[in-house]
Amino acid sequence: MQAFEYVAPTSVDEALAVLGERREDAKVLAGGQSLVPILNYRLAKPRVVVDINGLPLGGVGVENGRLRLGALTRHATLEESPEIARECPVLREAAALVGNVRVRSLGTLGGSLAHADPAAELPMVMVALDARVTLAGHAGRRTLAVQDFLTGYLTTALGPDELLTEIDVPITRHTGWAVEEISRRAGDFAIVAVTALVRLDRRGRIDDARLAFAGVALTAVRAPAAEDALRGQEPTSERLAQAADTARSALRPQSDAFVSAAYRRLLVGVLARRALARAVARAVEVR
Ligand code: FAD
Repeated sequence: MQAFEYVAPTSVDEALAVLGERREDAKVLAGGQSLVPILNYRLAKPRVVVDINGLPLGGVGVENGRLRLGALTRHATLEESPEIARECPVLREAAALVGNVRVRSLGTLGGSLAHADPAAELPMVMVALDARVTLAGHAGRRTLAVQDFLTGYLTTALGPDELLTEIDVPITRHTGWAVEEISRRAGDFAIVAVTALVRLDRRGRIDDARLAFAGVALTAVRAPAAEDALRGQEPTSERLAQAADTARSALRPQSDAFVSAAYRRLLVGVLARRALARAVARAVEVR
């Protein structure tokens, strides 16, 4: 690790002043679960590390039908908060799949989104939920759809002088949910992961369906053709299998050193079918 200056601001304005002045020379430190390994391998060599753990960015609240989560919300809070379990339970299921207990007690939601690993569970769930992120900079605040925030492999719309301060997601009390993934060992990043969200209407037909995937593209992605094929339909196992097949045909994952593209595509179909079936079963319960 290369020597760097360490600053620990106590307000967002103070943090923004440092970022505004030091720009590309600065790196924000949240839970450190991705940044510290990057520093260890000297993949980043910041001159100053801005520790944001003293900022008031950890709150969880409900406002105007949306769950508002501070950027410093730990993965463990997503897993354990009764409010989150009630208002947006898919977050709990996804957080429980991240790394191990040590990673979950330190890692933050904002850090996971800012790091933008294409195999990470939380950005995928945020894409499924149509979440919004708030970025604060010297020039003011801006709010972006998470799909526009995640711009590529480990790349986001964050400017060098900006902080991700808040994430907000629609409340999904009456939506069924499931997150499925396959990883080489428990706690590893997923090879492929999928989030399914299904809401049923009074007649038991699918009113809304969402499918988002991790590990199959440079960012988390939705499968719009599969979602469209489900809306207005009865959630029979044949329909769910057809939709999973549509997602499998639409996505073009790449091979890497561990896994072939063909295996990833196979997983897309299998996991989407499983996730949709579990989400439908829950949608019946919460309708
Ligand atoms: P940091 O490591 O502190 O920061 C990550 C990046 O985001 C840095 O570039 C930093 O500058 C930037 N950043 C952080 N917060 C902000 C902010 N508010 N505004 C602007 N920029 C910011 N993740 C998974 O999704 N799934 C897994 O299965 C998984 N397994 C893991 C296993 C191990 C052993 C480890 C060490 C990590 C694992 N992770 C996994 C990563 C983990 O989820 C990290 O916590 C997360 O990716 C980064 O969050 P962090 O708070 O630790 O951020």
